Amino acid sequence: MKSLCSLFLCIFLLLAAGCSLNGGTPQDSTLKAPDDDFQGYNTPRNEVFLHPTPNFPAACLAALKEELQHHLDEIYIVDRYIVAIGKEFQLVESDIDSSTHSFRAENLLLKADQYSNRNDVIHFIVTDRKISTTLYGHNGAIVEGFSTCPGNAAIISSHTFQNGKKQAHFWKLAMREFLHTRGLTRCAKNVPTCLMYRSPEGASYAGKKELCPSCLSILAAPTKIAHD
Ligand SMILES: [Zn+2]
Repeated sequence: MKSLCSLFLCIFLLLAAGCSLNGGTPQDSTLKAPDDDFQGYNTPRNEVFLHPTPNFPAACLAALKEELQHHLDEIYIVDRYIVAIGKEFQLVESDIDSSTHSFRAENLLLKADQYSNRNDVIHFIVTDRKISTTLYGHNGAIVEGFSTCPGNAAIISSHTFQNGKKQAHFWKLAMREFLHTRGLTRCAKNVPTCLMYRSPEGASYAGKKELCPSCLSILAAPTKIAHD
């Protein structure tokens, strides 16, 4: 019995060592957070932090946290991600695009991207404000989500999700941006129910509910992607 316990302990220690190596920055001793507010977010487990902007509805944030956790648990059987509420993300006027009265998505993303240098800790900015970027040469194009692909930062905006019917789909936007950070792009098989499917008419969420086997197989491949 004693030797069996030792064996389990060895396996556990090996697994723990493996996790630490995969994590990229053992103990995060060299981490320099740009802002005191975000220190302490680099914990030794896979985590997704949701950082609301000021006045983002608390109930909406709590619902998003639950939904995201539920759907991540469906996808990740091992190496699962823990979704947590992070500290508030302060918006500043210098990030506003004056022509569209929206926040420049790339500016916010750059800030979120600096909060973690670990591939398995992802920082989401969650806002109800308009966000925009330059799309196909068009400056100030309003977008719903924006993320590093791959990377560890994302922004999602509920601005266009105000009506109750669409609000129910907000988690799908979060999932899609999360999966972009894991390196997934659009669904190559064009499966209409796949979360990564983008219909020719643009972003639509109705009918999407899971990852298709093709997208899932990409994710199932070694997903520890170096961050730089
Ligand atoms: Zn797919």
